[in-house]
Amino acid sequence: MKAAVFHKPKDIRVDTVEDPKIEDPRDVVLKVTSTAICGSDLHIYNGLFPQPKPLVLGHEFMGIVEEVGSGITNLKVGDRVVVPFPISCGTCHFCNMSLPTHCENSNPEHYGPEGGLLKGKGGGLFGYTDLYGGYSGGQAEYVRVPYADYGPRKVPDNLTDEQVLFLTDIFPTGWSGIDWAGLKGGETVVIWGAGPVGIMAAKSAWLKGAGRVIIVDIQDYRLAKAKQAANVETINYNDGDAVEKIRQMTGGYGADVCVDAVGMEADHGVWTKALNVIQGEVGTMRVLERCLDAVRRGGVVTVLGVYGSPYDNFPLHQWFDKGIQIKGGQAPVHNYIDHLIELVATGKVVLEDIITHKVPLSDAAKMYDIFNKKEDNCVKVVLKP
Ligand code: NAD
Ligand code: ZN
Ligand code: ZN
Repeated sequence: MKAAVFHKPKDIRVDTVEDPKIEDPRDVVLKVTSTAICGSDLHIYNGLFPQPKPLVLGHEFMGIVEEVGSGITNLKVGDRVVVPFPISCGTCHFCNMSLPTHCENSNPEHYGPEGGLLKGKGGGLFGYTDLYGGYSGGQAEYVRVPYADYGPRKVPDNLTDEQVLFLTDIFPTGWSGIDWAGLKGGETVVIWGAGPVGIMAAKSAWLKGAGRVIIVDIQDYRLAKAKQAANVETINYNDGDAVEKIRQMTGGYGADVCVDAVGMEADHGVWTKALNVIQGEVGTMRVLERCLDAVRRGGVVTVLGVYGSPYDNFPLHQWFDKGIQIKGGQAPVHNYIDHLIELVATGKVVLEDIITHKVPLSDAAKMYDIFNKKEDNCVKVVLKP
């Protein structure tokens, strides 16, 4: 079959690789009908997460069941499903605590309590480096889905792939960032990053009763997309002091909630790159710092953007003095997906309006480059195998 294979940073090729097969009674093999490129894939693409050998990428995918393992009774050949990006067994200590991204069975070689740089990582993820289980991902014609009696969800026939594809990751992820903040209604939510995740967080904020939603980004075209798809107010980060603007917009107090939907690949200069080498850091935490600065006293900061190393000079004093609550991590997609399918099916939310590029899988290498460089007004790429 054909698949988008990571070889080394900035080198992705659509190769012919071996077809996946059933390896465990709880597996299914899926014929992928749609798959997307995520900001998280860029961390591998740009070399911030190491991957020593070729790997089929892709954790956002859906398709038709092609083959079922002997233990599968909930799905049959021909069923159309979306698949949550975390690989979770559904029965272990952490799965039982509704913490599917911390599954202790899906990443046997690299799992552990530490959450370290190169050891003791969380549960397995599709197409997301050997450290996260080394699973082949779904930017491919076919993909093996483990624990298929726990993850995949059937989708209504009347909904198109584009309407439901983002239930695999970015909509539940955006939803997590708002759910974790525990809105009571009427809050001012400021989201950093007008990428796919930030826009999904904005849609979620309205659905959960926010009174005001503001998005900050450095790209005007993405701010324009966020305004169109999620009816937000916008701030360009490079246009004056964004934190000061947020204070002015909130009577001097700051936002009730700040969501970091950027992570360690926020734009940063040469000085930070030099510090990275000296301090053993990857990327920057400047957006998280801005969130702590822009949130009001007693407010909440949720962190969806990915961070891959320790960072010095974390503003612990500000967190303490302002009494800020912080919550973040990989999104527990399994906990939210059924409710979110309902919201899509009943027309309460539209997800496909962020798609800017729908192209054949064979264009994957070119689209990684365009998405990474934020060219061609690119917001979200859907690949068709
Ligand atoms: P993306 O790269 O498309 O979007 C990031 C956005 O941040 C871009 O629009 C960029 O212009 C903007 N940005 C850069 N520097 C900025 C700054 N200083 N201030 C404001 N905005 C800035 O990525 P995405 O797909 O939207 O994903 C965003 C983040 O969420 C990534 O780190 C990704 O890995 C992460 N993510 C996390 C989960 C999870 O489960 N927690 C799931 C999916 C994605
Ligand atoms: Zn993703
Ligand atoms: Zn588990």
